[in-house]
Amino acid sequence: MKKFYEVIVVGGGVAGVSAALSAKREGKSVLLIEKTSLLGGLATTGLINWFEPLCDGKGHQMLFSQVEELFNLALKYGYKTIDDNWQEKGLRKSSFFDHNLFALSLNKLLSKEGVDISYETTLSDVILKGQSVSLIEVLTVEGKKTLKAKAFIDATGNAFLFKKAGISIREGVNYLTYATTIYRNGVGRPTIQFSGASLDGKGHPEGMKTFNGNKQDDVNEYVSEAQLLCLKEYEEGKIKEVSMVPAMPQFRKIASIKGEYCLTSKDEGVHHKDSIGAFGAFNKPGALYEIPIGCLYSKKINNLYACGRIISSDDEGWEVIRVIPVAILTGEVAGLLGAYPKEEIQDKLMCRGIKIHF
Ligand SMILES: Cc1cc2nc3c(=O)[nH]c(=O)nc-3n(C[C@H](O)[C@H](O)[C@H](O)COP(=O)(O)OP(=O)(O)OC[C@H]3O[C@@H](n4cnc5c(N)ncnc54)[C@H](O)[C@@H]3O)c2cc1C
Repeated sequence: MKKFYEVIVVGGGVAGVSAALSAKREGKSVLLIEKTSLLGGLATTGLINWFEPLCDGKGHQMLFSQVEELFNLALKYGYKTIDDNWQEKGLRKSSFFDHNLFALSLNKLLSKEGVDISYETTLSDVILKGQSVSLIEVLTVEGKKTLKAKAFIDATGNAFLFKKAGISIREGVNYLTYATTIYRNGVGRPTIQFSGASLDGKGHPEGMKTFNGNKQDDVNEYVSEAQLLCLKEYEEGKIKEVSMVPAMPQFRKIASIKGEYCLTSKDEGVHHKDSIGAFGAFNKPGALYEIPIGCLYSKKINNLYACGRIISSDDEGWEVIRVIPVAILTGEVAGLLGAYPKEEIQDKLMCRGIKIHF
């Protein structure tokens, strides 16, 4: 690890991996900082092994470039459940994947492309100079270090960089969820099994509060309660087998930055001149969105960009942007923002085959 990079990406989930790859492919020196020892975030460490669709729900692919590349990589080592004729059969381009081998493959891909990765490294503070992030402080196995970059990308899943830089956030509400997996490498497909609440909160223990992933006490209680619930269900025989447990809290929504534009349900079917990507909602076939560039930054800080599940969004807008394929899309865009002025981004995206309008 050097002391200076052109682009530093914090958080090695799918969004951060995509951002690092994207900036590196533009010839920039890139450091990716990850607090665990695995890349992929919720999609690997968090055991979420279902890649939501790359299509619009009407037989047309919407997401290309690095989303398609990482989709293929995720499916490379098995558990592929997509029908090759998904277009003709009215299915969606989505699939289960092998989350363990996906994590190992992400490390191989970034290493091959020359991205420096600092594992077991946690961002702890941000130092501002005027309206820019000038330095970040990280905790490594050797202690505290200070790192400098021209541009910083927040891919933490909890907007830690933005919060530390003084940018306001919207806070997510989370029900108690604990997903474990029955994993038999190369056999059938990994079965993901849920204890507690489903997406809409059904199954949340009666009388229990909801959780805010920005508060340490809530994180502690959530992690502990979720594990206790899973163990109880195992002891009662409701869960027959547990071969993998998640190593990070499975909060769906923690923080969304208050950027220059907030994507909401009102944006369904709306065209935006400054779109950086179009996609189909995973939960409503035919519902299309375009993401305005302003969802990825705040004018208050010049050299800081967001990607993944923290981009500026609310209600249904937040719900549809937080899934794996869209997180990879916004990661790719953030990587370009780290390399070029905003005015040049749409041209760069189109050169990469990214669909910016539906
Ligand atoms: C229960 C549940 C079910 C889901 N189901 C699906 C599904 O079926 N299909 C789908 O497509 N999506 C699903 N999702 C959503 C999806 O998995 C995530 O929203 C998406 O993977 C987020 O990617 P990300 O890169 O933005 O963030 P994350 O995956 O959260 O990655 C953030 C990374 O940053 C690291 N990090 C955090 N803070 C720091 C720090 N201070 N310093 C250094 N590193 C840091 C973390 O360790 C992590 O690796 C689900 C989510 C949940 C919780």
